[in-house]
Amino acid sequence: MYVRVLPDQAAGRLLDYRVPEAFAGSVAVGSRVRVPVRTRLLAATVIEVLGESDVRGVRDVAELIDAKPMIRPALLDLARWMSEYYCCPLETAVCSVLPVAVRDGRVAEKRRNIARIAGEVSDEDLAALEKRAPRQADALRALIEAGGHLAVAEAAGRAGVAEGVFRALEKRGLVVIESEAVARDPYSEKFVSTAGVTLNSEQEAAMLAVGEAMESPGMPILLFGVTGSGKTEIYLRAIRQAVECGRTALVLVPEIALTPQTVERFKSRFSDIQEKIAVLHSHLSEGERHDEWHKIHSGAARIVIGVRSSIFAPLENLGIIIVDEEHENSYKQDEAPRYNARDMAVLRGHRERAAVLLGSATPSLESWHNAQSGKYRLVRLDQRVDDKRMPVVRVLDLRQKSRQSPEGGLLSRPLKDALEGRLAKGEQAILFLNRRGFSTSMLCEACGHVCQCPDCSVSLTYHRAAERIVCHICGHTARAPKVCPKCKDPGIRHAGVGTQKIEDAVRRIFPKARIARMDADSMTRKDAYRETLGAFKEGKIDILVGTQMIAKGLHFPNVTLVGIVNADLGLHMPDFRAGERTFQLLTQVAGRAGRGEMEGEVLVQTFTPFSPSIQFARHHDYEGFMEQEMEFRRAFGYPPFARMVLVTLRGVMRERVEFSAQTLARKLRAAAPKGVAVGEAAPAPLERAKTYYRFQVSLRGPSSMALSRLTRSVLDSLPMPEDVFVAVDVDPLHLL
Ligand code: ADP
Ligand code: ZN
Repeated sequence: MYVRVLPDQAAGRLLDYRVPEAFAGSVAVGSRVRVPVRTRLLAATVIEVLGESDVRGVRDVAELIDAKPMIRPALLDLARWMSEYYCCPLETAVCSVLPVAVRDGRVAEKRRNIARIAGEVSDEDLAALEKRAPRQADALRALIEAGGHLAVAEAAGRAGVAEGVFRALEKRGLVVIESEAVARDPYSEKFVSTAGVTLNSEQEAAMLAVGEAMESPGMPILLFGVTGSGKTEIYLRAIRQAVECGRTALVLVPEIALTPQTVERFKSRFSDIQEKIAVLHSHLSEGERHDEWHKIHSGAARIVIGVRSSIFAPLENLGIIIVDEEHENSYKQDEAPRYNARDMAVLRGHRERAAVLLGSATPSLESWHNAQSGKYRLVRLDQRVDDKRMPVVRVLDLRQKSRQSPEGGLLSRPLKDALEGRLAKGEQAILFLNRRGFSTSMLCEACGHVCQCPDCSVSLTYHRAAERIVCHICGHTARAPKVCPKCKDPGIRHAGVGTQKIEDAVRRIFPKARIARMDADSMTRKDAYRETLGAFKEGKIDILVGTQMIAKGLHFPNVTLVGIVNADLGLHMPDFRAGERTFQLLTQVAGRAGRGEMEGEVLVQTFTPFSPSIQFARHHDYEGFMEQEMEFRRAFGYPPFARMVLVTLRGVMRERVEFSAQTLARKLRAAAPKGVAVGEAAPAPLERAKTYYRFQVSLRGPSSMALSRLTRSVLDSLPMPEDVFVAVDVDPLHLL
């Protein structure tokens, strides 16, 4: 017996090996093995089982990593498709369906260090130590107080010292450190089950559709329901139904910040089968991920809740795949393979005959288009469950100088007054800052004008070095203006503020208020989200300042005011999706206000009060916005009316990157069939990142797969300088 394998690191080469008698019975397609390649042993995936091989001097498979094939054929097929569609090497695609933690079968059980006091410690000993090494004394005292032994990490936390201090104590002979194995369970708390509610008629109709889809899967369902319309209730029942029919359920949620509340809700609803739920997200330790994955692989888990990469969870007999907040950008992977988990869900559901349920209060333009054109079945929940009214949204025009408050700078007077009023009443507020990495569009603070490409209708990017503004879709370029082209005010500039700055300003204005900040920088610890959100929920925080992270899915009954500090920033990203994103974000953020008994209020600060994104969001008019946005996309030939591929080249030598990009653009244009447009090579909006210069070439045409094949064939025949790196993004979400 022979096998054809794909090593994890062998540049797409398929190699043949003989399977020794010892494990001939266990090797199948999808098995993970270790094979000798030259002088090394490499982990590899079995792609094919062969009766014979005509390779001369064929070598033996050295080792079988797991007795059961680790990649099911269906997932291997998915990887093959992904490699072709997303234009990435097959081994990259294959690796992505297996978490690192299980890929080479080498994750050991989890261990932790326990510190134990070595013998009696007298008060004199402690006093002496205090003089020589006060931190060691603190550490020792923490151990004594804990009864003589404690996990090092825990003890270090209690004593407020680094873990290394315990090593120093060990050297002194005062403490012994031992390692012990621990079982991992990231969500080991018990939850109480919530009582079921009676569905309203819209929800009944939605369940009927879900039932039909599970019975005879065909079209994915787009569940379009405003925040608080009871979508999650539908998810919960759909999962229950799948599991009761003996099938499995996969739920994707967009972000870790959402996971605590969502996971809690799922776990409590399924507390009777708690051991059958697996949770996969990016904050798990390697060991935890390993354990959860094996729980799914072995068939013990019937329900999987997880982020993007969970779309490859090795569940069998899938009944339903649910994608919550399907419009979320975090479903798109930003390294190869650059897949969109929402789209993979549709594909996987189709292939494994599972129902697919995509839910959102603000569906993506792509999904809305699919629903309109009959590719998806549209199911609506138009009523909020409790008949609560949507919050009142007020737009504050920052161009009027009188609005700007002298001490706040970033906080206008009306927003400041509103905060003051809510604080006085003991209610809570959220201050939201739209921060998308960076801002390089040019915005006039006097009239709100933004420099745009005349042909592509996206914001032009300001490039400081050359003092020019550039369109990175078509390559159009012009000198950066010194005064606003529209009103001649010299106040044209590019702006960006950080959450930290807002937090400081708010602290200055409201010294007595309890304020917390939530963004990627302040939330690096695993439990930070849960703690901060918990404290906010318990009313221990008055004002929560944050970014995208706090925009979605969270439910805080006592929040009556949401202030959006800079609605514009996202709007002027050099991206045709800027308007859609801003609309979604404003709608989601606004949905955080007035979730309880009290009516909510949303204040939106902006320099462009009449932009459609802001106006439609203000009136809670999703369909109005979609209609207008669809027209814009159609007129300019943007997705979903055309497909796009973005090739980004980066390297340390600017000229070399630019030259390579120009060559690539030329070759692509020469090879492009009719109907495919290839843009000029242009500096990326984010021209320099991490010491690399970046240039881009964009392609547009009717089919992603065709664009992808064209790109691959041209790249394969085009030798790149060694220090120029190429990234291909098919169906890109961000054009940075
Ligand atoms: P969404 O996911 O659309 O934001 P949820 O499913 O979270 O909405 O529902 C919002 C709230 O209403 C939740 O607290 C939920 O338990 C409750 N709820 C959902 N459906 C019903 C119903 N039919 N009757 C009463 N309460 C409901
Ligand atoms: Zn252009």
